[in-house]
Amino acid sequence: MSRPIRAYIDCDAARHNLQRVRALSGQAKIMAVVKANGYGHGVERVAQSLLEADAFAVASIDEALELRRSGVLHPIVLLEGVFSTEEFSSVAQEGLGVVLHSWQQLQMLEASQLSLPIVIWIKIDTGMHRLGFAPNEIERVWQRLHALSNIIASIGLMTHFAAADEPNSVLSEVQLSRFNAVRQSLPDTLPISMANSAAIVHLPQAHGDWVRPGIMLYGVSPCDVSADDLGLRPVMTLVSRVIAVKKVLAGECIGYGGRWYVPVDTRIAVIAVGYGDGYPRHAPSGTQVLVNGQLVPLVGRVSMDMITVDVSELPSVAVDDPVVLWGEGLPVAQLAQQAGTISYELLCGVTKRVPCVEGRAGAEWFAHA
Ligand SMILES: *Cc1c(COP(=O)(O)O)cnc(C)c1O
Repeated sequence: MSRPIRAYIDCDAARHNLQRVRALSGQAKIMAVVKANGYGHGVERVAQSLLEADAFAVASIDEALELRRSGVLHPIVLLEGVFSTEEFSSVAQEGLGVVLHSWQQLQMLEASQLSLPIVIWIKIDTGMHRLGFAPNEIERVWQRLHALSNIIASIGLMTHFAAADEPNSVLSEVQLSRFNAVRQSLPDTLPISMANSAAIVHLPQAHGDWVRPGIMLYGVSPCDVSADDLGLRPVMTLVSRVIAVKKVLAGECIGYGGRWYVPVDTRIAVIAVGYGDGYPRHAPSGTQVLVNGQLVPLVGRVSMDMITVDVSELPSVAVDDPVVLWGEGLPVAQLAQQAGTISYELLCGVTKRVPCVEGRAGAEWFAHA
């Protein structure tokens, strides 16, 4: 058998999560966010699992073209819009929608010769202060777009929350009221889109016409409520196996830098996963790992290809025993918290050398070798 690490991708869970998002989103349409290779899950298989979404959203035209090549006919929105005038031609040809967030992009649009009209989402910076026009610029943007009405199929209004994961966030309230103030000055028929996953959960008043869930679709809670309580199922389960077990005597130390000092004689299991696979190098000793269905603590530094865990409490652990790094049985959010990062980064960071297998890490994987 090859090196035993695998990322199981449960497409049924993705389908299920989409239904949960629908149930939570009222009448809003769903723009499924599949940027960064479907948050590391493989964009084609994710898109195929989410065909019941009303549209897809990605970061760039390259990601959109990948979706089109895989046969996706849905509306697709480029969340950062275009990076050059030329890209607008492909946008028109492929029937994509673009976010318009800056005067530079507006100039590019004015300079482009389009064969077909395109869908535009005006991005309003209501307080995140990343992309978007300031509220007081929207009227001028609107006038300039009006002159381009022959190349525009439709215009929507979009914003993005900075702190929707915090319940009762004052910032979210401020952003919402700034957004609504801008809407007052424009035709009230324009479609609006504000909510990422966290806002779908915490800000029902911000659902608007289109919600933009990302992380929830992958089965991860966007906030303090657990994924279980939201009815979400993990899509990715990262598994590996024990490749060595040994006794290490009190007074020794383990791993690079000898960072974990062995207080009493300890049984150590070595697992085939490391930062070269996307396991977070900064996970401290004590971070939980699921070995044979039991939580055990990581000890010593994470290496490129291996980690070491203390299995003194589990005398039966042996080479080939199954390990879950995150996913079913161990929420990725829990590891993220222990490692000082976020689920998004862990999911996106699974490296190329990790083989993906479609399905659940079922009996076959967990059966003893
Ligand atoms: C990535 C992204 C989303 C999705 O965010 P989640 O927190 O994963 O739900 C929504 N909107 C925009 C503009 C994004 O960039």
